[in-house]
Amino acid sequence: MDFILLGPPGAGKGTQAKLMIDKWAIPQISTGDILRAAVREGTPLGVEAKDFMDRGELVPDRVVIGIIAERLKKKDAAAGFILDGFPRTIPQAEALQEILDELNRGIDHVVSIEVDDEELVTRLTGRRMCKECGESFHAVFNPSAKEGVCDRCGGDLYQRDDDKEETIRQRLAVYSRQTQPLIAYYEKKGKVRRIDGTGSIEDIFKRILDAVGK
Ligand SMILES: [Zn+2]
Repeated sequence: MDFILLGPPGAGKGTQAKLMIDKWAIPQISTGDILRAAVREGTPLGVEAKDFMDRGELVPDRVVIGIIAERLKKKDAAAGFILDGFPRTIPQAEALQEILDELNRGIDHVVSIEVDDEELVTRLTGRRMCKECGESFHAVFNPSAKEGVCDRCGGDLYQRDDDKEETIRQRLAVYSRQTQPLIAYYEKKGKVRRIDGTGSIEDIFKRILDAVGK
């Protein structure tokens, strides 16, 4: 089972990834994690990646793709994998295809967890943090007893800049702009499984199982 997992911020992708890992005993492979691992292990590509990261530059595709290729060849990925955060572009998707061709395997399913923007904005802008003790609440899903006041210590609650609507809408727009061409690319190959990302965690997971025929 070779998966690519897609989903905007706030869609619960991480939660579903955990359930998929448990179900199929396959690793989640996210670009950030494997870059850090390659740097830690000091592989030749890891050393190269570190140079770019130390300079605060983006690690170029050639290096990222090399590291992904090494990761996909490891034993624990033999039965499958969940790619998360890669590919992000068509050239990366094409490079991935070449890697998989070489390994005589291919992407089985591109699982796209979809939630409309207004719902995501509600989910993502609702977080409130306590200035004093750091406790977190949600204006809609987990409100404090008294608005703006921490239940635990009575401190003032505030909204982090990252959680402001404008910032959230920008992140969602970036996600959509990046992802649409990829979806179209895999759509042509008949690989895209669109999953309604609303409802309970179990309901969403059941939709994934149904969509991949398991
Ligand atoms: Zn508090």
